[in-house]
Amino acid sequence: MDAFYLVKIGEILLKLGNRKEFEDRLRSQLNRRLEGLPHKVELYPGRYFVSVPEEHAAAAEFVLSRTPGVNGFARAFKVEKSVDAVFDAALKVAAQAVGQGGRRFKAESRRSDKSFELGSFELSAEIGARVLEAFPETKVDLHQPEFTVNVEIRERAYVYGNPSPGLRGLPVGSGGKGLLLLSGGIDSPVAGYMMARRGLSLEAIYFHAYPYTSQEAKDKVVELARVVASFSGGIKLWTIPFTETQLKIKKEARDDLVTVMTRAAMMEAAGLLAERIGANSLVTGESLGQVASQTAENLRFTQSRTSLPVLRPLIGIDKEETIAMAKKIGSCEISILPYEDCCVVFSPEHPLLRAKLERETEAYEKLGLREAIAKAVTEAELIAIPYPLPPSD
Ligand code: ATP
Ligand code: MG
Repeated sequence: MDAFYLVKIGEILLKLGNRKEFEDRLRSQLNRRLEGLPHKVELYPGRYFVSVPEEHAAAAEFVLSRTPGVNGFARAFKVEKSVDAVFDAALKVAAQAVGQGGRRFKAESRRSDKSFELGSFELSAEIGARVLEAFPETKVDLHQPEFTVNVEIRERAYVYGNPSPGLRGLPVGSGGKGLLLLSGGIDSPVAGYMMARRGLSLEAIYFHAYPYTSQEAKDKVVELARVVASFSGGIKLWTIPFTETQLKIKKEARDDLVTVMTRAAMMEAAGLLAERIGANSLVTGESLGQVASQTAENLRFTQSRTSLPVLRPLIGIDKEETIAMAKKIGSCEISILPYEDCCVVFSPEHPLLRAKLERETEAYEKLGLREAIAKAVTEAELIAIPYPLPPSD
C-alpha cells in the first residue's frame, strides 16, 4: 500500500490575486524534491495530497517537514464517502494513537461536502462514542487532547491523527532568488534557512583566502550549504578566491579599517555575482552590534558597495536564539568545528566601530580593488549541491 499524506498550507491561502502562482510553486517544489522516487502530488482547494510507496515514507516525511509553504502534514486514510468507511478508518487512527500511549482525545470533523449524511457535529460525536467503546482506556478531552481523530469530508473522505508540523512560510522561489553570503560561522546558514522560508530560492557565495584558510574550512562550508539545501531545495555554491583582494587590503589599508574594507569588498563581489546569476538580493547573517563590523554605521558603509537590498534576517535576533535555531536545523554541530574562515585570519585588533560613509568610501576607492574583485568573481568555482534526499528503507 502507498503511504498517503494530507498536507496543510497556511500563508498561501491568504494570497488573493496570485494564489494560483503560489500553489503551483509549492507543487513544483514538492515534485522536484521527490524527484527520483515514484510519487504523486495532487492539489485540491486548500489541501495537497502526496503519496509514495511505503518504503519511501521516511523520505516523503523528510521532504514534507522541510519544504517552506507546508504548514503541517499527516499520514491519512483516504476512504469512500460513507459513514461506515469513515468510522472504520477513525478506529484505525485511534488504535495507532492508543498504541503509542495516547489516552485523552477528541474527534474533529470538517465537511465541505454538505451532502454527506451526517453533519460535522454528529460525525464527531459518533466517532467519539465509537472510540470510547472500542478503547475503554480512553477519555474525551476537548481542551488538551493527546490525540485528535480528524475527519475531512471533501471530494473523498480523509481520516488522520495528529499532524506533524511543517516549516510554514512561503514556497521557495515565490520571492525570486537571493545570494547568500555563507561563511563557516553559526549565523549565515540560519539566515539562509530563514530566507528560504520567506520564499527566496538561494544560491550561496563563499570567500576563501587559500592558503591562509584551509581546505577543511571550505569543506565545512560545503557541509553547511548541504544543510541549507535541505530546506531551500538544491543549492549552487560559488567559491571565490579572495586571497589577492584580502592581501591588497591588508597591505594598503589602515589596520583598523581592514575588516570593514574586506566586508565592503565582499559586498561588491557578491553584488557582481548576483547580477550574473539573476539574484534580486544578498542575504547575510549579520546581527546588529554582534561584532565591530555590524554597527549600523558599518552596515551602511559595507552595503553601499552594492545597489541590491541586503537582507539580514538575524539583525534583531540574539546569539542564543540563533544558536538554538542552528541546533534545530542541524547546522550548529558543523559550524562549531574549529576551522577559521578568512576574516578571522585578517582581523585587526581594534577594528573601526563607526564608519563615516564619505570618508570610508574615499579610503576604499583609494585601495583600487575593482580589478582584483572582478577577477575573483570570474574565477568563481561552482559546486552544485543536489537536494539531499535521504536514502529510503
Ligand atoms: P557567521 O557566524 O555566519 O560567520 P559571524 O558572526 O562570524 O557570522 P561575521 O564573520 O562578521 O559574523 O560575518 C558576517 C556575515 O558576513 C556572515 O554572516 C556572512 O553572511 C558574511 N561572511 C563573512 N565571512 C564570509 C565569507 N568568508 N564568505 C561569505 N560570506 C561571509
Ligand atoms: Mg564569520
